[in-house]
Amino acid sequence: MKNKLPDPVCELRRTGAALPRVVAPLPAELVSSYIHRLADANLLNAADLHTTITGDRRTRAAPRITILARLSSFPENTLRHALPELRTDDHEKWPLSRKIPGCTLCATARGATRPFRVWQRGPEDVVCRRHRRWIAGAEDGWRDDEQLSVADQPEILQAHRLHLRLIRNHGRPNTTIAFNQATWILDEWRKTEEYDYYSSLGFEHRISTFLGPDWQQLTIGSTVTVAARYPRQVALTRLLVSPFWKEHALRDQLQAGRPHPEHRLQAATAIGEYRRTIDMWGPIPLDLARALMVTYLLLDGPHLRTFLDELRRTVEPRYRWDPIPAKPVRADLLGAEKFDPLVQWVQDEIHDRLHPGQQQWEYLAEVLG
Ligand SMILES: [Zn+2]
Repeated sequence: MKNKLPDPVCELRRTGAALPRVVAPLPAELVSSYIHRLADANLLNAADLHTTITGDRRTRAAPRITILARLSSFPENTLRHALPELRTDDHEKWPLSRKIPGCTLCATARGATRPFRVWQRGPEDVVCRRHRRWIAGAEDGWRDDEQLSVADQPEILQAHRLHLRLIRNHGRPNTTIAFNQATWILDEWRKTEEYDYYSSLGFEHRISTFLGPDWQQLTIGSTVTVAARYPRQVALTRLLVSPFWKEHALRDQLQAGRPHPEHRLQAATAIGEYRRTIDMWGPIPLDLARALMVTYLLLDGPHLRTFLDELRRTVEPRYRWDPIPAKPVRADLLGAEKFDPLVQWVQDEIHDRLHPGQQQWEYLAEVLG
C-alpha cells in the first residue's frame, strides 16, 4: 500500500511554487541538514519537506534535485556545488564518510537558525580559518561536537597551513595516507613510555592554553587531546609524504639490499615452522611476517641519519632508531606494539618498492611455495 503524502506536501507539489523564505546552502553541508534549515525558516515540518523533495518517506531516500531547486530558488548547479551528496562528475567528489558539525560562528554569520552538519573532505578539514576554531571534534566514536577556539594556538594554525600545503604539493590521496600512517605511529609510540606525546612540552603547553594551567586529567581521544596532538601529526606526515625525506629514510637500506633476501628466506622458513606448530588456517599472520623481517634492517647509515635528525628536530626529540625488537621474536607472543612502528613503516615502504602491488603475506606465501 502506498503511503499517503501529508497535506503541505500535496500543496507544494500541486502549486510547484518556491518556498517564501530563501535559505542559502552552506559549503559541504549535508542535504538533511539543509532541508532541516529550509523547513525551519518556512515553518514547515522537516520530515514532510523531506518527503516532498525525495518523493519517499524513507529518511535515507535520495533528494530529487529538480524539486529541491524549485523549492529553494537556487539553480541546480549551485546546489550541486554546495551539497556534496548531489555532486556529479563535473564537480570535485570525495568519499562521503565522516560528518562533522559546521563552524557555529559561520552558521551565525550566515543567519542559520540551527547548527548545521557538513561532510569532512579529509583529515585536513579540522579548522575554520575564518573564525580560528577547531571544528573536527573528537576521535571517531565519541559523540563530542565541542568546538574550540584556536585563535591563541599558533602551532595548530601553522600545522593546518602546512597540512594544506602538503596536499597542494603531494595530492590529497598521498597526504591522507601519510597522515593516517603518522597517526598510527604516534598512537603506537604513545603506548611506550619513551615517546608518549602526552609528555612532550608542546602538547602540555597546548593543553594548558585550552584548559588553563590547573588542568588535572585528560581523556584520550577527547576534542582537546585530538586538537593538541594535531601539530605533531602534521609534522610527521610531512616526512612520510615527501619523496625527498622518504628517499633518505630508505636509501641506505635499499643500497645494502635490506632486508636481505637470505633473511627473507629465514623469515619464510620460520613462518613455515610457525604454521606447523599452530593449528591455523588462512593467510600468514602479517604481524609475524613483519616481525621477522624488520629485524634485518640496518642499524645506521648516512641517509638514515639525515632523516632521523629531521625527525628529532621536527617530531620527536627523544627518538632512537632501533630495528631490533626489545624482546626476541616469539611466534606465540605476537603484537605490533613490541616493534617500533617507524621501523615497520620503513620495512613496509621497502617492500612496496621491491614488490609493488603485492601484499607481504602474498610474497611470503610465494617464497614458501
Ligand atoms: Zn567559521
